[in-house]
Amino acid sequence: MTSDPRPNRTHILHRDPSRVLPVAVAGDGPFVIDSAGRRYLDASGGAAVSCLGHSEHRVIAAIKAQLDRLPYAHTSFFTSEPAEALADFLISRAPEGLEHVYFISGGSEANETALKLARQYFWEKGETGRRHFIARQQSYHGNTLGALSVGGNPARRAVYEPILLPVSHIPPCFDYRNRRADETSEEYGLRAANELETEILRLGPETVIAFIAETVGGATCGAITPAPGYFRRIREICDKYGVLLILDEVMCGMGRTGTLFACEQEGVSPDLLTCAKGLGAGYQPIGACLMSGEIYDAITQGSGTFQHGFTYIGHATACAGALAVQQVIEEDGLLRNCQAMGDALGAALRDRFGDHPHIGDIRGRGLFRAIELVEDRAAKRPFDLKLKLHAKIRAEAMAEGLMVYPGGGTIDGRSGDHVLMAPPYIITQAGVDMIATRL
Ligand code: PLP
Repeated sequence: MTSDPRPNRTHILHRDPSRVLPVAVAGDGPFVIDSAGRRYLDASGGAAVSCLGHSEHRVIAAIKAQLDRLPYAHTSFFTSEPAEALADFLISRAPEGLEHVYFISGGSEANETALKLARQYFWEKGETGRRHFIARQQSYHGNTLGALSVGGNPARRAVYEPILLPVSHIPPCFDYRNRRADETSEEYGLRAANELETEILRLGPETVIAFIAETVGGATCGAITPAPGYFRRIREICDKYGVLLILDEVMCGMGRTGTLFACEQEGVSPDLLTCAKGLGAGYQPIGACLMSGEIYDAITQGSGTFQHGFTYIGHATACAGALAVQQVIEEDGLLRNCQAMGDALGAALRDRFGDHPHIGDIRGRGLFRAIELVEDRAAKRPFDLKLKLHAKIRAEAMAEGLMVYPGGGTIDGRSGDHVLMAPPYIITQAGVDMIATRL
C-alpha cells in the first residue's frame, strides 16, 4: 500500500476534503463535544437545524419508542400513526389554506416536491404552457437539480449548467443592499415586489408556474428579512396572474423567527410551503411540503396520482421524532424564548459590533441573525471574496469553541461575507452573551 501524503484523507468524500475535521461524539444541550473532549457552543444549530440542542431526552425517548414498535413501513402499503399525527399537528397550525402535507427526508426534497406539485397542478388543469419558474437572486433552495435550478447562487449552479428547469431570477428584497436612500422600507418593498410583475409580463403570464422565495433569506445572503408589505404585494401579483406562490421555510420556518411559520409575520399564505431543518431538529432527517386544498384536489380528482415519490416518504420514525420536537417546542413555550433571546442576541451583536469598521449590517429576526462583513463600511464594499474570509471566521470561531455558519458573497460581488447565527431555542442569556463574546 502506498502511503497518502494527505493526513486527512478518509474513505468519506467530505464537503471540503482539504480540512481536518474534529470528530463529534456527544451532545449536551447547546454544546457539541468532540473526541478530544472539547465543547463547542452551537450558535448556528449546525445549519439552522438543531433547534432543541443535542440532548433533548423527550425526543430521543419518542424515537426509541417508535423504533421498538415499528421503525418503517413503505407508504405504497401503509400509512402510519406518527405520520398521520404529525400531519394533523402541522395542518392545524398552518397558515390559512394549507390543508395537506407530503413528508420527505429534507429541504431539497421538499422543494423538489413543491416544484413538481406546482407543475402537475397546471398539467391537471390542462395549462401545459406553464413551464417557467421565477425565483430570486442570492437564494438557496437545495442541491437536487430542480431545487438548484431555482436557487440563485451562481457558484453552486456553475458546474451543472445548463440546468434542467427554465427559471428566471429577480433581485431579492434586500434592504441593506438594494433600498435607495430616498425610499422608505415600504416603498422599497413595493418596488422589489413589482419586479415580479415585470418578469411575469416579460415571460407571458400563461407560461409561468410559480414564484419561489425564502420568507426570510438564509444561507446565501444571511438572514435578510422582507420589507414591510413585500410579501403581501407578491401575493397580490401571483393572484392576479394565476401564478402559484411557493414559500421556502426550510431554514427560517418551524419557529426559527419566533412564529411557527415565518410567513405568519408577513400576513400571507402561500399555495405551497416547504420546511425541514427545525422540523426534526436534527434528531431525524425529515422535511415537509404543505399544499393548498386546491392543489391537492386538482391532482386527486384529476389523474389521481402525484407523479413523484421516494422510498423514505412519510418515514414512521422520522415523523415520530418530528412530532416530539414540535410538541416540546409547544409545551415548553420555546417560541416565546426564541423571540426574547432573538432580541437579546440582536442587542448583543449591535452592542459588540455596531461600531465595528468592518461590519456593515446586523440583521435578522428571532433566533435567525447575521452580521455582514465589508471592507469599506461607507461604500458597503465587500471584501475580495477570494480571501474566503467567511471560511477563516468559521475556523477561528471553532478554535474559540463556537459554531457559526458563515457564507460567501454571491452575485456580481454585490453581497459580501456574512456570518449566520441560529442558536437553539433553549438558549439562555448566558448563552447569548457567550456567542457575542466568543465571536
Ligand atoms: N432551502 C433552504 C432555504 C435552505 O437553507 C436549505 C439548506 O440549507 C435547503 C432548502 C436544502 O435543504 P437540505 O440541505 O435539507 O436538502
